[in-house]
Amino acid sequence: MILLLIGNGKGKTTSAIGQAIRVLGHGGKVAFLQFIKSDKFKTGEEKILKSLKDVYFYKGGLGFVGIMGDNLPLVEHKRAAEKTFNLAKKIILSKKYNLVVLDEINNALQLKLLKTKDVVEFLKAAKKKIGEGVDMFLTGRGAPKSLIKIADLVSEVVDVKHPFQKNIKARKGREF
Ligand code: ATP
Ligand code: MG
Repeated sequence: MILLLIGNGKGKTTSAIGQAIRVLGHGGKVAFLQFIKSDKFKTGEEKILKSLKDVYFYKGGLGFVGIMGDNLPLVEHKRAAEKTFNLAKKIILSKKYNLVVLDEINNALQLKLLKTKDVVEFLKAAKKKIGEGVDMFLTGRGAPKSLIKIADLVSEVVDVKHPFQKNIKARKGREF
């Protein structure tokens, strides 16, 4: 199935982590791939996920795109996103993982680091080919309509209130 977590509220990536724990608890295998997020910035979840033998973890981004002091050419962000997507394709089609998380892929699509058509066409074809064995869990803000259309499950996390609005910065253990 294609599961999609969208919206501006907090809870999309943590939901994917929760889903991964659930699959692992049943003896399943998980591939957790992250777009945009950079390996230079360590998060609590990656430390734990990387330590588990049934998890393949890959962080394929180069960090913020066009904001927060990013001065890398867009083409480099695109290259990184394409590399991560190519890896995702191989992993999904290998059928070795019960759950494949594509964290922040929606943001990569919104920023045009990947072509929506390529991703949607691949997911549709993959779903047909692999059947029920593999769940593909996609997260991020700004999901394109065509992706929402082909997904089997879509949940939107609505931003009702966030401490960020009171200038409270991201905190270890809460946001990362
Ligand atoms: P989390 O990783 O906590 O589940 P998320 O995946 O839903 O959050 P993203 O859209 O990926 O959130 O945002 C990236 C970062 O911004 C995370 O550290 C997240 O906690 C934080 N964040 C999420 N929602 C908001 C918001 N409405 N305002 C400010 N920061 C937010
Ligand atoms: Mg996220």
